[in-house]
Amino acid sequence: MTTVGFCPSVREAWEGATELCFRLFPCLSDPARRSAWGLKAALLFMHLVIVGVLFLFDRDLIQKTQKEPWYTSIYLVLFAATLFQYFFTSSSSPGYVVDAMKAWNEAHATFTQTPRTSKQTAASKDGSLVCPMVVPQLERSISGMNSSPWVKQVMNLYPLGLSRRNWTCSYCNVIQPPRTKHCHDCDKCVLQFDHHCVWLGTCIGQGNHRRFWWYIFEENILSIWTSILYISFLKANTTRQWWMDAVAIMLLAILLIALIFLLLLLLFHSYLILTNQTTYELVRRRRISFLRGIPDGIYPFSKGICRNLYDFCCSCTSIYSLERLPTAEELEAKAKPYTRVDVISCRCC
Ligand SMILES: [Zn+2]
Ligand SMILES: [Zn+2]
Repeated sequence: MTTVGFCPSVREAWEGATELCFRLFPCLSDPARRSAWGLKAALLFMHLVIVGVLFLFDRDLIQKTQKEPWYTSIYLVLFAATLFQYFFTSSSSPGYVVDAMKAWNEAHATFTQTPRTSKQTAASKDGSLVCPMVVPQLERSISGMNSSPWVKQVMNLYPLGLSRRNWTCSYCNVIQPPRTKHCHDCDKCVLQFDHHCVWLGTCIGQGNHRRFWWYIFEENILSIWTSILYISFLKANTTRQWWMDAVAIMLLAILLIALIFLLLLLLFHSYLILTNQTTYELVRRRRISFLRGIPDGIYPFSKGICRNLYDFCCSCTSIYSLERLPTAEELEAKAKPYTRVDVISCRCC
C-alpha cells in the first residue's frame, strides 16, 4: 500500500517537531515547571491581543461593521465559539480507566460468569502481535483471579494466554484495556490515549478526541479569517503610523506560524481518525507490545475509512466503550493487496 512509507515519515516528523518544541520551550516538557492555568491564560491573552489590535487599528473594518454588521457578527461568533470549544475540550474527560472501571462494575454488579468463546488472536506470550499463522493455541484460566466484572470484560479483549501482568498498570495498578496508556501528567490511565496536550492542560483520549478535532478545526478557520483581515489592513491605502504596520506585521507573522502548525495538526489528526489510530500508537508503534509485529501500512483497529469516520463523528456510544485486539484472521484480511473491488466495497484499510 502507498501508506507503507508514510507512517515512518509522519512518525519522524512528529518526533522532530516535538523535540524542537521542547528545545525552544523547555518548560513545556517538565510537568513540574509548567502551569496549566498559566498556559490557558497565555493562549486566551494571545487570542484577545490578535483580534483586539485588528479592531483598534483597522478603520476600514469598523466602517464595514457599521455598513454590514452581519460580517463582523459572524466573525465574532466564530471567535467566541473557538474559545468556548477550547475551554469545553480542556474541561472534558479523556476517558480515565478508573472512571470506566467504576461505571462498568456498577452497571454489571450482578455479573455472572459465562463460558468464553474468545477468538484466537495474533498475539504471542509477550503480547506482541506476530505472524497470524504461527500463533499457538493457548488456554487461560480465570480461576483464582480477581473476578470483578471489569477484569472479566478486559480479559475478553486480550488474546488467549497473555499474562495479566502485561495489562496491569505498574503506576496506578488498574487493569488496562487495549489501547490504554498511563499518563504521567494526569497520573491516570487513559482509554485510547492519544497525547497529553499541555495547551489544553488535559489528556486527549477516547472521551474527548472528537471535541479536540473540532477545536483545532475552528481554530484553523479563525486563523485563516484573521490572517486575511490583517493582510487587507496592511494592503489598504490609508494613512497610519509606521508602528501600527510594525505591530500588525509582527502579529501576522505569529498568526501565520501558528496557522501552519494548526493546519498540519488538523491534517494529522484527520489521518489518525480515518485510520482509527492514535498519536501514541503511530509514534510508539515499535514499543507497544501488541503492535510490534504488525507491518507499517496495516491499521489493526481500522474498520475502513467510512466506518471509522462514522464511529468518530456519529457514534453515540459511551465514552467508555472498549475495543478488543483484532484476531489473526482479521489482520490477515487487512494485509491482503488492495483491489478495485475493495474500492467499491469501501475496504479502505
Ligand atoms: Zn496507570
Ligand atoms: Zn494526561
